[in-house]
Amino acid sequence: DGAHRWFLMQCSPLREGSGAIVGWSWYVSHSELDERKRTEALLAGEKRVLEMVARGRPLPIILDALCAVVEAAAPGCRCSVLLIDPRRSTFHSGAAPTLPSGYTTAIEGAPVTRTVGPCGMAASLNTQVIVSDIASDARWDRDAWPALALAHDLRSVWSTPILSLAGNVLGTFALYQQEPGRPTVLHQALIEQFTHVASIAIERAQTEAALRRSQAFLAEAQRLSSTGSFAWRADSDEITWSEELYRIHELDPSTPMTLQRSATRVHPDDMPLFIASVENARRDGRDFEVEPRLLMPDGSIKHVHIVAHATRDETGGLEYIGALQDVTERRQSQDALDKARSELAHVARVTSLGVLTASIAHEVNQPLSGILTNASTGFRMLADDPPNVEGARETARRTMRDARRAADVIARLRALFTKNGAATESVDLNEATREVIALSSGEWRRAGVIVRTELADDLPLVAGDRVQLQQVVLNLMLNASESMSGVEDRPRLLTIRTGIDDDHRVRVSVRDVGVGIDPQNLERLFEAFYSTKSGGMGIGLSVSRSIIARHNGRLWAAPNEGLGATFAFSLPAAVGTS
Ligand code: ADP
Repeated sequence: DGAHRWFLMQCSPLREGSGAIVGWSWYVSHSELDERKRTEALLAGEKRVLEMVARGRPLPIILDALCAVVEAAAPGCRCSVLLIDPRRSTFHSGAAPTLPSGYTTAIEGAPVTRTVGPCGMAASLNTQVIVSDIASDARWDRDAWPALALAHDLRSVWSTPILSLAGNVLGTFALYQQEPGRPTVLHQALIEQFTHVASIAIERAQTEAALRRSQAFLAEAQRLSSTGSFAWRADSDEITWSEELYRIHELDPSTPMTLQRSATRVHPDDMPLFIASVENARRDGRDFEVEPRLLMPDGSIKHVHIVAHATRDETGGLEYIGALQDVTERRQSQDALDKARSELAHVARVTSLGVLTASIAHEVNQPLSGILTNASTGFRMLADDPPNVEGARETARRTMRDARRAADVIARLRALFTKNGAATESVDLNEATREVIALSSGEWRRAGVIVRTELADDLPLVAGDRVQLQQVVLNLMLNASESMSGVEDRPRLLTIRTGIDDDHRVRVSVRDVGVGIDPQNLERLFEAFYSTKSGGMGIGLSVSRSIIARHNGRLWAAPNEGLGATFAFSLPAAVGTS
């Protein structure tokens, strides 16, 4: 019939007792070798198709190749793969390279139901459907399918559902013949093998399509929210940018991104801030947030908010995954709001101070003028002749009463300022400091101050009033920032450090590179109402010192070796922590 067969021949010598050959015995087998050749060809075909899958070739091309392999292995069979659109539950042609197009187009878009033919039945019942003779099968008596198949010279068909890994029907795999017939064991093995390969190809194509959809979705969301995402490996400086990041930076996405290249857009004034953040992140491996400005080639300025989360890869390497949002519009309105708010706060402070001063003056003035009147009355009574001793004694008594009243007023004021009855709780100074920095981040940004933190690990807790201690930290930071307000020739760097002293006390220090302090003047700074600032009240440091003293701690100042000053306080560690 023109088919090839492969034969294996073996022959062995037949020997007599002396060893001389007396004849040959021949063994001829064909089936095993035939089988081996066929299996090898199939394996090669399967490998070819799987390679196409791995290379991401388009699904129709892969399915065409798959049909060609199957048809070569099963002479007389015509192969068809139908796909199911899961949303609409309809059939779509996957591949049927040798079936008449008049037949295949008829099923395009048909609903997945039993009535459309054996493929519809196989898919909806999730089972193999064998039609050994289309002409005599009664299952589709009332349907149009048998006539259509017979009109295209098809007599038998075996259809098998293609299942996903999760068991969902992805489509059907069918073998058609022009003669009536049932599948042999060989056919069944072929069907099993290639429905499996088809399911891999289809699932992979669907996953890729879903990925492409989700990437497009993400890109659109990034564009809408002006947010780009990035990944940065701290050890190798490898950087991956999303499309939106290139757009925000107005950089060409075809050139690979590097840290240096990304820095070219950072505003020169914010370069120190940017470098400090990168170095901090590289060293500490902590999450970070930074808000630098970008300078565009046309001279316009963009404000961006960067949030980065530290992760570790399989080898323990530090990698940051982050997002960058263009917050220019928000920043502009925030700045206007901040300005209004700080003006308001200033007015409120000035007003309340004015009111406070007036009431102090009033309260103290009354007993003082009483003292003055009484003293001069007493003086006059003693000068009388004879001296009015009794009267003078009375005025001296009133003088003492008024003096006591004045002292009372002062004592009450003190109590008011020192707020007795402060809360005592366990305070983590690292956390308290981070909170102060975060809460006042707008302040540092406005003042152009770069805040660097060097917070000790395993810092013991201290006992005290968290809010008051935060006031001290904030006060020292504000002073440090003000001391650098005139600095233009270097980064306005403020370093907050926490640590443990030799005597096991917890220390917080705030270091600046500002105008510095005169060693002669060190103690005067802490006096109430001492200020060198035009608008200064001079009570910040004195109140801070009294808060720290009430926590059994110490607050001091020292000029730096280089530029600026360092203010620091230390507190005893809370009992129970070390
Ligand atoms: P104010 O800040 O209102 O002047 P403070 O009591 O906080 O009041 O500070 C008193 C003075 O101490 C300041 O006017 C300033 O002269 C000096 N001072 C405080 N902090 C610093 C600093 N970091 N560097 C230089 N001088 C400082």
